[in-house]
Amino acid sequence: MSRTTYLECTKCGAHIDADHPQTVCPNDGGVLYVRYSLKNIKKDFNRGSLASLPATMWRYAEVLPDAPPVSLGEGFTPMLPSREFSNVFIKEEGLNPTGSFKARGMSVAVTMAKAYRLKKLAAPSAGNAASALAAYAAAAGIEAHIFMPRDVPMANRVECESYGARVTLVDGLISDCARMVAERKEKEGWFDVSTLKEPFRLEGKKTMGYEVAEQFDWKVPQGIIYPTGGGVGLIGMWKAFEEMETLGWIGSERPKMVVVQSSGCAPIVKAWNEGGLTSDFWPDATTLAAGLRVPKAYGDYLILDILKQSGGIAVAATDAEIMEAFHHWARVEGIFAAPEGAASLVAYRKLRAQGFFSAEDRVVLFNTGSGLKYLDVLEKQKKSGTPAARQIGGIIGPY
Ligand SMILES: [Zn+2]
Repeated sequence: MSRTTYLECTKCGAHIDADHPQTVCPNDGGVLYVRYSLKNIKKDFNRGSLASLPATMWRYAEVLPDAPPVSLGEGFTPMLPSREFSNVFIKEEGLNPTGSFKARGMSVAVTMAKAYRLKKLAAPSAGNAASALAAYAAAAGIEAHIFMPRDVPMANRVECESYGARVTLVDGLISDCARMVAERKEKEGWFDVSTLKEPFRLEGKKTMGYEVAEQFDWKVPQGIIYPTGGGVGLIGMWKAFEEMETLGWIGSERPKMVVVQSSGCAPIVKAWNEGGLTSDFWPDATTLAAGLRVPKAYGDYLILDILKQSGGIAVAATDAEIMEAFHHWARVEGIFAAPEGAASLVAYRKLRAQGFFSAEDRVVLFNTGSGLKYLDVLEKQKKSGTPAARQIGGIIGPY
């Protein structure tokens, strides 16, 4: 891990050793950022050298932990120009291994788990993060212990079982799953890889920011619309822009960062509208967009700060709007998006109508995953004629 110099707390600024596994800041529970000797990297490496590197997110290995990657070919996903709007691009994360952007974070987290010689990883999950953890753990020969509510989307459960993960189906909510992991991890020797509770999933997610810059020839767009549950991708991209400026790869310009959430679970939107520095726990969270069912993001203070710094905004989309946008994208763009991704289109339309973005602004909409993971949800919605919202109530972290 020669490139990684230390971990830095995003609350108190404490420097913490990265030579053994860390979770959050021991002083205040702050999220830890991985820091690199960017000045040294700048001396030895420039963005022109990327051209010959593999078309995966590990092309940015110079700014990732220095350990042999556990890779399934994740990242460097297409930046598709919209057929409908000029200057709009869709970043197609559904083409990642296990069909979602979660592959990026888990590739780096499992890479580091292997480097640290951890044998057993655990996570409470209700969706795509579980599939990604199960796949990368299988590739690394590490045990994965996953706790899921009994009514999770079918694809995620079937995938986890196929990858050989130890899946425990829980009669309860995701919060019950999280509590079970917390209660048992010490006794069982599990390392908890819940989002932002370990520092390396963020490093995988940040590669989306590097890709946005590289795919636009190092000119950052005017806006990025990001479906936000835990918001790690948004936090990671912002970190990437700061690193790239230090490396001299981009200037001081930044995209306006836009959060889109489901109106059935919109804690960041509420906090943003009220001028809050953190969010309140969203009670009775209900939405068919499973990845947006995060009543309180662990990194909420970082997300809200980034919205402010970037001149961004937070927008909510109803399940009905999300489903309309899902069908629209499929028919107009040929993209079978995750419902979370389709929410980006809802936000873009609203922000154009409000004049927040103009037709000339280059804006990237993130489709965070493949709609193929949601066939049971979509089929149920088709039969009932109304969105098949899932009542979840108690999610405490971004899964
Ligand atoms: Zn701290």
